[in-house]
Amino acid sequence: MNPLSSDVLIIGAGPSGSIAAALLRRQGHSVTVIERQKFPRFSIGESLLAHALDFIAEAGMSEAVHSAGFQYKNGATFVRGDEVTDFNFAQQFTQGSPYTFQVQRAPFDQVLAEQAEAQGAVVRYEEEIVNAKFGAEKQVVTVRNKAGETYDITSRFVLDASGFGRTLPKMLNLEVPSAFPVRRAYFTHVEDRMLSNAFDRQKIVITVHPTLHDIWFWLIPFSNGRSSLGVVARDEHFARFATDPVSRLRGLVAETPSLARLLTDAVFDTPVNELRGYSANVKTMHGQGWALLGNAAEFLDPVFSSGVTIAMKSASMAAKVLHRQLGGEPVNWEADFAVPLKKGVDAFRTYVSSWYDGRFQTVIFHPKPDPKIKAMLCSVLAGYAWDEQNPFVSQSERRLQSLYEYCAALATPRSHAALPT
Ligand SMILES: Cc1cc2nc3c(=O)[nH]c(=O)nc-3n(C[C@H](O)[C@H](O)[C@H](O)COP(=O)(O)OP(=O)(O)OC[C@H]3O[C@@H](n4cnc5c(N)ncnc54)[C@H](O)[C@@H]3O)c2cc1C
Repeated sequence: MNPLSSDVLIIGAGPSGSIAAALLRRQGHSVTVIERQKFPRFSIGESLLAHALDFIAEAGMSEAVHSAGFQYKNGATFVRGDEVTDFNFAQQFTQGSPYTFQVQRAPFDQVLAEQAEAQGAVVRYEEEIVNAKFGAEKQVVTVRNKAGETYDITSRFVLDASGFGRTLPKMLNLEVPSAFPVRRAYFTHVEDRMLSNAFDRQKIVITVHPTLHDIWFWLIPFSNGRSSLGVVARDEHFARFATDPVSRLRGLVAETPSLARLLTDAVFDTPVNELRGYSANVKTMHGQGWALLGNAAEFLDPVFSSGVTIAMKSASMAAKVLHRQLGGEPVNWEADFAVPLKKGVDAFRTYVSSWYDGRFQTVIFHPKPDPKIKAMLCSVLAGYAWDEQNPFVSQSERRLQSLYEYCAALATPRSHAALPT
């Protein structure tokens, strides 16, 4: 294949780029992926949801991912003080995968990119998209290589899968602020030295700070005795600590007894990273000759590990629409891609918002959950946020609000709350 011309040009070889590349190759289209970094490279976003495995299977990558030695994940544990609640993906409403993986993104993203290459996509590393011109038939992107030289690639369509790089949103002035307040994350990898009976390595642990309930931590165990540890909070919560990332992360862990206990013997041997203001949105997800995938379009929040799943879902949906368009069919990117994708993203949005305003925490830490309702919530947490059969997806805000009112009323002893319908 001539790398200077292809049916589809993809910006970025993260999960959305590699899945889209493989899916389009499987339908016979030529694909060039331009990736500005050298793989393997660190990336954040290590806890997958069960639904992500469906897209990995669709892209023909199951065997490679299953044989890469990643940590199996079967659900999530939430901890707030003495309150502990588990969600097991095997006990969910949607007929979906009962498990997934917790992955170091360096090898994971490399496996996906290599799988896309094995299916015929051309991936050019350490090259960067620096300009793009769009037309009715032909798109021209300008690439800068490692030596600083530029050259053009023509294609029929461009998919921007550049994640937080947000290449086309910046170039085309599409960025709009997220409705979520600015939050900051500090994170690292530790040798966790957790006792096997103290902890289920097959679950992410989301721990809420004991007094400041909008501060939360992730602990994501890997298969090699190490874990990813991170904290998320608004800026003002960090102000009482020294400014260095280690003091801030370790200071908040020390205030959270259940997490501090789990990490008693942990070895902090890796620098602590920092990310701020990562939530982002755009005016539109598509235009003449281009569409945005994954984080290049919108990033909500890390709390329910939805990022990679949304990125893969967007790749899967875009590849279907684009296949039809390249075959000469008329397509409507808004109706066929943006609107249905946003439905699931909006369901996640309900649970992210209500996590921080406290409603979802009241629901999940309720001591006597209804098993059927818990299974429906479990499906959302497993990533099946596009399952319209699930009322906690199709009417997420209404259902969540009435469930919250019911749980909150039960928490006050003299109430006679009616079960929500
Ligand atoms: C603190 C935090 C914690 C998170 N935790 C989780 C989690 O546990 N689970 C989860 O699912 N998600 C999590 N996420 C979200 C997750 O990181 C992203 O949603 C996911 O990586 C998005 O995938 P993507 O393919 O859209 O982009 P990315 O994974 O960001 O990949 C984009 C690629 O494009 C390349 N690129 C960028 N610009 C250019 C350019 N101009 N030219 C060429 N290449 C370019 C980049 O080098 C990169 O390789 C977290 C996010 C944050 C901020």
